Amino acid sequence: SIVYLNGEFLPAEQAHVPVLDRGFLFGDGVYEVVPAYGGRLLRLEQHLARLEQSLAGIRMSPPLEREAWARILEELIRRNDGDTDISVYLQVTRGVAPKRDHAFPAEVRPTVFAMTSPIPPVPARVLEEGVAAITLDDIRWSYCNIKAITLLPNVLLRQQAVDSGAAEAILIRDGHAIEGSASNLFVVLEGVIVTPPLGPQLLPGITRDLVLELCARHGLPHREAAITEAELRGAREIWVTSSTKEVVPVTRLDGQPVGDGSPGPVWRNVIGLYQDHKAALREG
Ligand code: PMP
Repeated sequence: SIVYLNGEFLPAEQAHVPVLDRGFLFGDGVYEVVPAYGGRLLRLEQHLARLEQSLAGIRMSPPLEREAWARILEELIRRNDGDTDISVYLQVTRGVAPKRDHAFPAEVRPTVFAMTSPIPPVPARVLEEGVAAITLDDIRWSYCNIKAITLLPNVLLRQQAVDSGAAEAILIRDGHAIEGSASNLFVVLEGVIVTPPLGPQLLPGITRDLVLELCARHGLPHREAAITEAELRGAREIWVTSSTKEVVPVTRLDGQPVGDGSPGPVWRNVIGLYQDHKAALREG
């Protein structure tokens, strides 16, 4: 595949980053993942706005204007079989420092990287049966609203879920369900769609935002409110959302069925609205 690195488009095998890059040594960088359907980027403006927020969160200024990002991502899609469903991963690190030192180097140029990956279609089985999730203590840091490349806790949490035969870990902090290891969380409580409010403990998901917007537009009762662990365990429906996996129904939690153990009617309604939104984007 063709990737973008610091102003150049080149084959992935030929793209190299020096070992003194702060991303490699410190995980000192941020990233985004933007899905594209039929060559059209979904919610690009919102992704770029969140990227700017993440950069500000680690005290970096944006290396590129939004217009320049748009041109790079569109070119990358064009060069990578862009009519299929693909996601664009983009990463900015603080750059290559003269030596390894925790404090920011002076006058360093950021490393800017982007690549594409196919988005596999959601397996029919997931749509029919949902997935399993487990709850785990949220061991992450205090700035989960920053989309930092420092994902070791998320990696360990997701692997623990996979090891126990589950697709996702739902993270619990101070008695509340927060989000997944790589997804946001929704539950249905007494007919109302509920997701935790934004704050430093979770990522402001672009899919979360879109789902809330679709709920508002179509008059589905919804609210942003803290979800206690007991509410999570008693919920009729649980979903996790992300740009590449969309809205996934969780039908088993810690080995117990969620609701009647199959994807619920509210999810069915919302996934339909989500698919319609994607189809409209594809058709321009
Ligand atoms: N929370 C976390 C921790 C994530 O890593 C992600 C993205 N994979 C999400 C939520 C979902 O965000 P988005 O809808 O923007 O993909």
